[in-house]
Amino acid sequence: MITTLKTKITIKDICKGFVYNELEGKGLFGLSGKLTIQPEYQRNYIYSSGDGKKEIAVINSILKDYPLGLIYFNKVNDDDLEVLDGQQRITSIGRFVNNKFAIKDENGMEQYFSGIAADKQTKILETKLLIYECEGKESEIKEWFRTINIAGVPLANQELLNAVYSGPFVTLCKEEFSNSQNANIQKWSTYISGSADRQEFLERALDWVSKDWEDKNNDPAHTRPIGKYMSKRRYEKNISELKLYFNGVINWVSSVFTDIESEMRGLEWGRLYEEYHKKTYDPTKISAEVHKLYSDPYIKNRKGIFEYILGGSTDTKLLDVRVFDDATKRSAYGTQTAEAEKKDKSNCPYCAIGHDVNKNKIWKLSEMDADHVAAWSKGGKTMAKNCQMLCKSHNRAKGNR
Ligand SMILES: [Zn+2]
Repeated sequence: MITTLKTKITIKDICKGFVYNELEGKGLFGLSGKLTIQPEYQRNYIYSSGDGKKEIAVINSILKDYPLGLIYFNKVNDDDLEVLDGQQRITSIGRFVNNKFAIKDENGMEQYFSGIAADKQTKILETKLLIYECEGKESEIKEWFRTINIAGVPLANQELLNAVYSGPFVTLCKEEFSNSQNANIQKWSTYISGSADRQEFLERALDWVSKDWEDKNNDPAHTRPIGKYMSKRRYEKNISELKLYFNGVINWVSSVFTDIESEMRGLEWGRLYEEYHKKTYDPTKISAEVHKLYSDPYIKNRKGIFEYILGGSTDTKLLDVRVFDDATKRSAYGTQTAEAEKKDKSNCPYCAIGHDVNKNKIWKLSEMDADHVAAWSKGGKTMAKNCQMLCKSHNRAKGNR
């Protein structure tokens, strides 16, 4: 790979013919059309998301003579350059010079580029950028790109994968799943956490469709199975399998669970779909059960409610509830009772230390309830060694304390 340092390119040069695509949220061209600001393997413009502080910081850095850092171009040929690293900074500059956002002046007033003092305008336009032009094989450049982080915002997993497997398949994927103008994004956000900009919807879609469970178990972030799926389809020009599967999962969840709860966001819906979509569920009954469980103060893990219901409402471990299962109760009862009989004391430890008629009464299992030795509300776990059986009246008395 050959690299050449360019020190004479000014912001004015870069901003000549700057085109920003509002719809896709990305800078497209600069340098009078010679420069492609966002090649396929680059990510969407994210400096303006949130409060836009990052793009403002870029402009303030220029005005204060702070270094903007190195920018890398890929020299495709004499007339074609692509931004390898620096896309976010260049897009910030281009957007500012084109009056797309304002900065605060020394009096705290919001000013667009056209409104700031002429000498400041000149200063910005004449600022020279430090640019490395790289020439090399596509594979070398991509390998290098894969290993860098851009301007303090590390690339997310899926952003890296998009860079590594760039091509027609990724382009189509991004059109569908990373386009913040897509009307479906709001519905998807009910079930998927993250944002379209950072490729998190695309990541989930690819994760769900790539059902390499063995590999997923070995790779908690699922990057490898997703990469395999992308690699096989890199030059394909259709994503219908991906869309079909993704929509299948979303439609399945939304038809089984008709209520929308915030805890649904970010669950492993792809895995749950694979496990349960062949079963039939009555959405009315499901809804009633969801409501019942949501109003149950003993349930600590509301995120587990959905899988618990799908699995037939048996796996209480998913809920992290404050009740002990029957096996645990029977076992605690057996141990306590055997010990109590040996000592001729009650098998309720509270009765046993009392002085009334119950002090050596052996209660039946059905006359006792399970109690948390360390209180559930104080983090005591619902597990066997934290379980003791109390007679019903002592259990009630303890519960009311
Ligand atoms: Zn008792």
